[in-house]
Amino acid sequence: MKIAFISDIHGNIEALTTALQSIEKRKVDRIACLGDIVGYGANPSDCLKLVRQHTDKIILGNHDAAAVGKESLYFFNDYARQAALWTRNTLDEEEKEFLEALPMEISEDGLHFVHGTPRSPQSWNYIFSHYDVTFEFAAIKGHTCFVGHSHVPGDYHEKDAKLGNQGKDRRIINVGSVGQPRDRDPRLCFALYDTESKELELVREEYDIASAAKKIRKAGLPEFLAERLEHGW
Ligand code: ZN
Repeated sequence: MKIAFISDIHGNIEALTTALQSIEKRKVDRIACLGDIVGYGANPSDCLKLVRQHTDKIILGNHDAAAVGKESLYFFNDYARQAALWTRNTLDEEEKEFLEALPMEISEDGLHFVHGTPRSPQSWNYIFSHYDVTFEFAAIKGHTCFVGHSHVPGDYHEKDAKLGNQGKDRRIINVGSVGQPRDRDPRLCFALYDTESKELELVREEYDIASAAKKIRKAGLPEFLAERLEHGW
């Protein structure tokens, strides 16, 4: 089975639409979403609608939780806080109830889905590099954990971490961000995973960044949130 993973869409409908078109061409069996559908971008409701139509599994992200008042804004920087409050006023009641009911993690058939990290999904810790995964492998429910949250794609293998867990090769895959990449490549990112061959492809695609940035400015959201899309940071 071929699964597409999308994550960290952040209200960027231009990026999401392009990602879904690209996924469609690749003939996947299903699509899963690892959270942060909303927050930062100007089209939270449109993104939520599309994600609900196209995916069969959705995980709660910290920005989804913040937008419905389920997570404190204490740890959010100023830009994120402003965007979260704006998003809260934009979503309708049904959309908020839907987001509020999303699970923190799902595990099935050896695969584990979380937004942040497997060891403590509710802490919203970040995986940016192999330094961050050392103590995470043991917490994986199954053999492979798919994460988002840092907006930096990556493929981490337990055997490379040299932890002495002989015979185990658990894996953590960061699927990157559709709507706000932060690895200095402004193209959208999503992951394709084959459950038989265990092959991974991290797909990058160009999308209409100018349009997404223009909408952020028009909505009165912080200028930085528009600019960063152009830089992929
Ligand atoms: Zn995010």
